Amino acid sequence: MKIVIPSIGLYNFKTKTNSPVRIIAVKDMNGEIIYVRKFSPAVYKFSINFPVGGCYDIMSDNNTDIYIVSTEPLYKPYLPSLPITNFDGNHCSGKIIERAGFDGSPASINLQCGHIVVNEKFLAMPKYAREFILAHEEGHMSHESEDDCDYYALKKIIDNGGNISPCLHALNNVLSRNVNNNIRIKKFIDTINKLT
Ligand SMILES: [Zn+2]
Repeated sequence: MKIVIPSIGLYNFKTKTNSPVRIIAVKDMNGEIIYVRKFSPAVYKFSINFPVGGCYDIMSDNNTDIYIVSTEPLYKPYLPSLPITNFDGNHCSGKIIERAGFDGSPASINLQCGHIVVNEKFLAMPKYAREFILAHEEGHMSHESEDDCDYYALKKIIDNGGNISPCLHALNNVLSRNVNNNIRIKKFIDTINKLT
């Protein structure tokens, strides 16, 4: 369903009927998925940060009607900056180079020039995942460990008025299932749980 978000802020929603929702996804005016969240158990109310006002499409798994109950200032829990541990990098150039077919992760950063190289897998991802991945790569300019870069990406997205749950969703869907990645996701969840 289409919904108008008049201005920046945290919007509290309710389902109009007695049917709870399990999955929420939000598309922006360009049709890009900017938010996704899975609830377990299903819920009758939820909240989403909108860093930009406009017309959005809110989709739920059961197509129930959803309406805005109230608005608040953006939810921005404080995350302290990590100490910088990697002195090899200069600055992220912000330049993104599309290169088809390289193996492994959907993106990587060249620490000398700060350019981020992405592949087709990256380009096919929803916007919220691309934003998280780019922020993670930027994190490698100042941090070495994957955990620290995940934290850096989470902090950047929160500081910019974004939402926490799509970050977890992005990380969950990028990483393959193995022991090390499971530990990495667990650490990320621990960080999020301390915030909420
Ligand atoms: Zn990394």
